[in-house]
Amino acid sequence: MKSILLTQIAELNQEDKNRLYRVIESFLFENEIDISSEQAKVKLSNANDCPHCKSKKTRKNGHQYGVQRFVCNDCKKNFRVSTGSATAHLKKKELLKVYIPHFLNGHSLEKCAVLTGISKQTSFDWRHKILAALGKQQNDIVLSGICETDEVFITYSEKGNQNLEREPRKRGKSVFVKKKQGISDDKVAILVSCDRKGNKHLQIAARGRVTTKEISSVLKDKIEPKTVLFTDKHRSYERFAKDNNLEHQTIKVSAKQYKKGIYHIQNVNQTAKNLKEWLGHFNGVSTKYLQNYLNWFALKDILDKSQHPVKQTACLIATSFSAWYEFKNVVNLAYVY
Ligand SMILES: [Zn+2]
Repeated sequence: MKSILLTQIAELNQEDKNRLYRVIESFLFENEIDISSEQAKVKLSNANDCPHCKSKKTRKNGHQYGVQRFVCNDCKKNFRVSTGSATAHLKKKELLKVYIPHFLNGHSLEKCAVLTGISKQTSFDWRHKILAALGKQQNDIVLSGICETDEVFITYSEKGNQNLEREPRKRGKSVFVKKKQGISDDKVAILVSCDRKGNKHLQIAARGRVTTKEISSVLKDKIEPKTVLFTDKHRSYERFAKDNNLEHQTIKVSAKQYKKGIYHIQNVNQTAKNLKEWLGHFNGVSTKYLQNYLNWFALKDILDKSQHPVKQTACLIATSFSAWYEFKNVVNLAYVY
């Protein structure tokens, strides 16, 4: 029996082995994955700023539902260790540990719901709260050395839009407003950047063609000084590199040139290809959720290679204290015409 099981495991491909591992991990390390205590550690080690007014004058104020509560001396508001995180206002919190491996395995919302024992709506909410939390990792990434950057265009989609009657919240958000002209206005441009250390950064930049200003708003704080920027010959990149004192190397894609000495765009090309393939599994992602999926994609390799992917994901969920606000922003976002 034992050897049959081992033989069967040996026959699995790498992706299925990873899946199996993630489920086993959630059983083996169940007691080690404690999101609340992880949050308490971070909040207590930091200055524990008030999430409402950022004041540092805060103090402990008893417990609520078994969770440490704090009060702000300046704005007098209460907050808990989970305030602002993906676990704020979460019922059935203990099931999150069960949910994470199924989520990481890329199962559908229904399948995750059934395997965890929650409703499909809850499954949807949890997926997007987790994805919002994963954005923390992307925000912290800094690219250096040689940085390849290119745009990937994804078709604009309002799939599953249920919020048409609601008042739009982010009226000016460029990606949801059509530009007046432009050949590819039905496309959303994602800026994909990779350095040679394996860091990846993916962010929605614009609807249609990307301008210098849009490149700057995505990459400005992401690239270390002295980084060599390697892109195709697009004037927007040229200007961005000049503005930020970066050495800029280019290739002529039109002349089928993909390599120039030590410079090439193979990493970014491969990443773009993988991204399109991976997004294909989700049957068309609605544009307002696209950034959440990009957060996931950017982290996928890291989590696949991680010794404890479930625990690492739980830690990210625990310590991203803006995820709840980001989640709320996205679900309440309505498309503007
Ligand atoms: Zn306050």
